[in-house]
Amino acid sequence: MRRVYLDHAATTPVHPEVAAAVAEVMTAGWGNPSSQHAFGREARERVERARDAVAALVGCEPAEVVFTSGGTEADNLAVLGAARYLRQAGRGDHVVVSAVEHHAVLDACRHLERHEGFRVTVVPVDESGRVRPEEFERCLEPGTVLASVMLANNEMGAIQPVAELAELARRRGVVFHTDAVQAAGQIPVDMRALGVDLLSLSAHKFYGPKGVGALCVRRGLRLDPLLFGGSQERRRRPGTENVPGIVGMGAAADLARRELADRAARLSRLRDRLLAGLRERISGLLLNGPEGVHRLPGNVNVSLLGVDAEAALINLDLKGVAASSGSACAAGSQEPSHVILALGRTADEARGALRFSLGRDNGEKDVDYVLEVLPPIVERIRRLAGSPRLSVGGTG
Ligand code: PLP
Repeated sequence: MRRVYLDHAATTPVHPEVAAAVAEVMTAGWGNPSSQHAFGREARERVERARDAVAALVGCEPAEVVFTSGGTEADNLAVLGAARYLRQAGRGDHVVVSAVEHHAVLDACRHLERHEGFRVTVVPVDESGRVRPEEFERCLEPGTVLASVMLANNEMGAIQPVAELAELARRRGVVFHTDAVQAAGQIPVDMRALGVDLLSLSAHKFYGPKGVGALCVRRGLRLDPLLFGGSQERRRRPGTENVPGIVGMGAAADLARRELADRAARLSRLRDRLLAGLRERISGLLLNGPEGVHRLPGNVNVSLLGVDAEAALINLDLKGVAASSGSACAAGSQEPSHVILALGRTADEARGALRFSLGRDNGEKDVDYVLEVLPPIVERIRRLAGSPRLSVGGTG
């Protein structure tokens, strides 16, 4: 059976070049980077080379890169570390966050609200999933210390006007964090051009290993660390460095920088082919997120009316297609996704959201295979659910 992987937003396959770099350092560069002897110096050199590569991918200085255990830790360090430090410095106790953030940001903000006495304002998004700068500006107060708006959304692919939002924050002295986990490697990311203070990354979203990421921290910005016990990463993230992971992230960052323009062009062509084909073949289909340039090149997210996305995914899996739903499953109960609901969709529409996220190894044949197998699946599910009006072959 044909197997088609269209879930790159969940994770990407490790690129062979990256795997080779990781394998090599496991055996040849296993020293502790903090050791002064030759073994340690060699490991240190590899970590610093990786730091240079990550900095080059996102347009910051190497000294601004703090390696973490992934995107979740980077987001937590940004939100908790900045908010706590700034309140301690007497700057205020208010945080602004967008409605469509990843749970790593949202739940950290909820923690600040519930357990640490912060106030949190959630900025809504428009029907295409983007934050309106004037809405964002209205949420800023004299006591706002931190704002967090992601660069690109993991579910419906909306690219936010981060440069504009960061400028509004900067004018009021508000520290600005952006989660660039889904953006890095897919669209150009330049920390200076964006004007952000904090930027999160995760290697496994751009063909690197899992369990390693980074928080880029603008020079001069202070943070409370989450962990204590060592002076690594300029005391911002103590603990012996994950040298193989970091080296893998560096190799993946190098690859992403070399391939960026090509990936973006190829993926947006495939994305448009998939979306046009779905619209042609399946009626009762709503695109979640923006059209065109404000959308991640590899993302297609559609709500199929009268279809339970989980049922569609199981059937796709039986045909060898790996995709994902827009909904987060919490302890077995299928809650509709907060991101799709934030677009103004109903709970039923949100439960019918399917996400296809394309990657560097996909081609037209993969897209065409999905276009062949999905319409009969949708038709069958609708027939069983008794929604005959929404059948295949409509105009969408
Ligand atoms: N932020 C976004 C936007 C993501 O998509 C993810 C991963 O799904 C994360 C953060 C968390 O990253 P990690 O899996 O490295 O913890």
